[in-house]
Amino acid sequence: MPVQYRFPGVVGQAPVQRILRQALEADRVAPAYLLEGPAGVGKATMAVAFAKALNCTHPEQRPCGACPACRRIQAFQFPDLWVLVPDRVRHEPLGVEGWIRPPGYHPTLKISIDQVREVEREISRPPVEGRRRVVLILNAENLTVEAQNALLKVLEEPPAHTVFLLVSSSPTAVLPTIRSRCRTLRFTTLSEEEFRALPWAQEGVSVTTLYRLSGGSPGTARLLVERAMLSLRNELLDRWQEQGLAGLLEFLNLSVRDRQDAHTVLWLLAQVVRDLLLLKLGLDHLVANVDRMETLKTLAQGVSEAALEGLFREIREVDTALARNISARAATISVVAPLVPPSFLDILPRF
Ligand SMILES: [Zn+2]
Repeated sequence: MPVQYRFPGVVGQAPVQRILRQALEADRVAPAYLLEGPAGVGKATMAVAFAKALNCTHPEQRPCGACPACRRIQAFQFPDLWVLVPDRVRHEPLGVEGWIRPPGYHPTLKISIDQVREVEREISRPPVEGRRRVVLILNAENLTVEAQNALLKVLEEPPAHTVFLLVSSSPTAVLPTIRSRCRTLRFTTLSEEEFRALPWAQEGVSVTTLYRLSGGSPGTARLLVERAMLSLRNELLDRWQEQGLAGLLEFLNLSVRDRQDAHTVLWLLAQVVRDLLLLKLGLDHLVANVDRMETLKTLAQGVSEAALEGLFREIREVDTALARNISARAATISVVAPLVPPSFLDILPRF
């Protein structure tokens, strides 16, 4: 009986699943794949599942999740699974609480040429115990240009027994010459139906709101849940509705301590302002914060379209300006300027 391949834990992405299943069944696995698509839709999860399928020893169902190869890959302790992450976090653990990337990961960190050279040395030898060595690069756009050029040389003469899996949510940052050496697997955001099937789509949370706020990205939605962003949003809406502009100012003043808070709060405020503009335009069916529709309708009555557009512009400008060395709290508070009557404008902080 032929081995069956399936990828438990991967939600949606039917075309990608089919391509990889067929490659495994026909034993025609490409030397390199580029897994590209929006952040948080399961590219790295798929890469790990594929690494298991390549090395699983179960006679019928792969990956089985239970054999030593599957278990050690899941724990990132398999000698033939090489994971490249930015140098600064390369000694941090992978897979903590279900997040594949190390806790200190940040998209601005770089993967140096040294790591590619290490891989180059390693792949000249046969796998230690697996059938195929897997080199997983999270995220390929983090490779420095020198590292990408070194990787290109490796991909030009792909070694037997090794499969490269490059994961990227900004594939234009990957050299075209590298892209052309990879089989591209395109990931998409989930449909609302697929999204509803996620295990953590928990009671008490509006799944439609999460789906729309995250843009159909389970990873983004998980961050929204773990960081309790919906209760922060509720506080914003409640204070704004109950105390008007003063309430909104108080919320901004109390909830922003540092730059990270400022980005979060501005993002939430932008989602709310976007919804208010949609209501003004009669596009109620596109509103993201559907669980707070009544509050949004009340707020929309009390503010002009021009003020909302101004607010939206201010949010974008301040969010960009946060990269400079400015007071995050004062800058965040200043976004409300378009809501403030001209005679009171001097109460706002400058940044
Ligand atoms: Zn297995």
